[in-house]
Amino acid sequence: MSFVFPPPATPSVAIVGRTERFAVHRIYCVGRNYAAHAREMGHDPKREAPFFFTKPADAVVANDSQLPFPSRTTDLHHEIELVVALGIGGENIGISQAASHIFGYAVGLDLTRRDLQAPAKENGRPWDAAKGFDRSAPISAITPADAVDLADSRIWLKVNGELRQQGALADMIWSVPEIIGELSTLFELAPGDLIFTGTPSGVGPIRSNDRLEGGVDGLDTLRVTLI
Ligand code: MN
Repeated sequence: MSFVFPPPATPSVAIVGRTERFAVHRIYCVGRNYAAHAREMGHDPKREAPFFFTKPADAVVANDSQLPFPSRTTDLHHEIELVVALGIGGENIGISQAASHIFGYAVGLDLTRRDLQAPAKENGRPWDAAKGFDRSAPISAITPADAVDLADSRIWLKVNGELRQQGALADMIWSVPEIIGELSTLFELAPGDLIFTGTPSGVGPIRSNDRLEGGVDGLDTLRVTLI
């Protein structure tokens, strides 16, 4: 096959302990999956279920990157999240089968132009410019699922050494198997899909020269600096 211009490189993520990389197919994200975060954004988690949005696959940014401050925002927010990496796809995946589709886990940042998201919400407009912009998905190396147990893990984010976000994975409204089951009724999932599973409370603005460090117990720590 020939192309009129060279096809783009395949976006990919490093894997802990492996030289092969994880080729990214799609990036799905869960909104409002921790009750305390739903409340801090002005929503009642008892009345509104979590929901999905997406980012482009080439929004991934490697760990230890220096990240140019995005255009068109003066209120860039951090959202630290557990990321699930799928190794096997499927449709209508049962909750009891979901774990067998998981390749591994990573730590990701769902970077958000909050000052574009707020008017989009008010006006019923799409979130793409607020959530799916270039380099909006920094992600750590992926730890294979069989190498870690996340049952009691905490998730946290520090900005310039100061703790800004923390929570327990057990506090997710939709568990990882429930997310995979629900998502697979909406889309045919594929190997290479990444799922950002939502952020705990404590989101807030970041600025040029800020150092972000985020983790989930048992996984590779994510570090990025805004420049
Ligand atoms: Mn998020």
